[in-house]
Amino acid sequence: MATPTRNPSLETTNSMLATTLALFDTAFERLQLDEGIAAIMRQTEVEMSVTLPIVGDDGRIMTFKGYRVRHSSARGPGKGGIRYHPDVDIDEVRALAMLMTLKCAGVNIPFGGAKGGICVNPAQLSQHELERLTRRFAKMIAPILGGKRDIPAPDMNTNEQTMAWFMDEISSIQGSYSPEITTGKPIILGGSEGRGEATGRGVAIAAVELLRKLGRDPKETRVVVQGYGNVGYNVTNILAAEYGCKIIAISDVSDAIYNPKGLDLAEINAHVAHSPGRLLKGYAGDVDHITNAELLVLDTDVLIPAAIENQITGKNADQIRAEIVVEGANGPTTFEGDAILRERGIYAVPDILANAGGVIVSYFEWVQDLQFYFWDIDEVRTQLYKKISRSFDQAWTVAAERELDLRSAVYLLAVQRVADAIQKRGFVSSGN
Ligand code: NAD
Repeated sequence: MATPTRNPSLETTNSMLATTLALFDTAFERLQLDEGIAAIMRQTEVEMSVTLPIVGDDGRIMTFKGYRVRHSSARGPGKGGIRYHPDVDIDEVRALAMLMTLKCAGVNIPFGGAKGGICVNPAQLSQHELERLTRRFAKMIAPILGGKRDIPAPDMNTNEQTMAWFMDEISSIQGSYSPEITTGKPIILGGSEGRGEATGRGVAIAAVELLRKLGRDPKETRVVVQGYGNVGYNVTNILAAEYGCKIIAISDVSDAIYNPKGLDLAEINAHVAHSPGRLLKGYAGDVDHITNAELLVLDTDVLIPAAIENQITGKNADQIRAEIVVEGANGPTTFEGDAILRERGIYAVPDILANAGGVIVSYFEWVQDLQFYFWDIDEVRTQLYKKISRSFDQAWTVAAERELDLRSAVYLLAVQRVADAIQKRGFVSSGN
């Protein structure tokens, strides 16, 4: 009889995947999880690696590599974005799929985790070439997709048009209109109201929930936001308009602006609306122009990194003056940066909870598509508020009970939920 392999795990030199596996391992240890269950979660469930030839506008054949990985369907269909970027590779997609499992479990929506991508620089392709590439990709990975199997969404360099092409291609293959196959679609094709603002709104709710737990009045709170794109713009404007926070600094890739008395957001938004690339560059209001590095260490109550990854690191975490960090971006705090924040007693609401608003409204979109019944914006906002505030509350309770920081508490909750689903489904005991 063959000796059973014990504790199999993905082998990798990729730092993102290695970090993700280490985070899982820490949670497994804290939960004293059954080794067999842990071994299931250290692996991905389904992986597809495809070659994508397309004919370019000039008649040349171009070939790309694409990937779709489903990490877990223990709690429901795989859910996760599709990104187009030259750095996409299988290990990155595996790590991102694992994080999606945790994000969906952390906010308790009935999805597992998945991710996909194509190794391509989309800026070098025409719109027609991008459509051909997207349709080819959809056709190739169609066997592992499905509204009850694995549901893509937009991610880096993909958008609602990409999802419309995806949905159309899969619907053609299936021979039936299937809006539930993707989320993040245009509203006219079954997209949800409120999807555009959802991530920023979720970050705002998470920030305010933490302020309330700490007995702080949002109206007496100074906020600094890095990034003024989809997430940064929405969280900034929602915190100011709906909760009365004082926004003292914002930034983007072109500039960072600061006024300790508060920024004039109406004036800034009018500037951005007419600025090429919707950038802050050239804004001439009553502000100091500082660098992004200076913005991160400003004297403030709340800091919201909502731009890119690796912004709070071993090099600057000891200079952060915010009492609260709410992660709008994915992975804005490195492993070393996080350890320093924790040591210094700075509260950090982790990305997998704080920026889960997007996937939560994706879940609402899927529900609406399955029912062919569409909600108004107030319903979407009410349900989003309930999901984020409840999830925050649960993480806060676990953190208090187990004397953990919020990040560790969310990971613990998420891993426990996935483990419970695996156990209850009997993947292990039935030998499937
Ligand atoms: P976006 O492209 O709309 O905006 C990004 C913003 O960051 C822009 O203002 C850009 O100028 C700025 N930026 C880029 N590089 C910068 C730098 N070096 N320094 C300072 N600012 C810089 O992207 P987005 O959708 O707002 O996403 C932002 C982050 O949130 C990403 O990490 C993304 O993965 C994460 N996120 C987004 C969503 C969503 O629904 N959009 C959901 C979950 C997580």
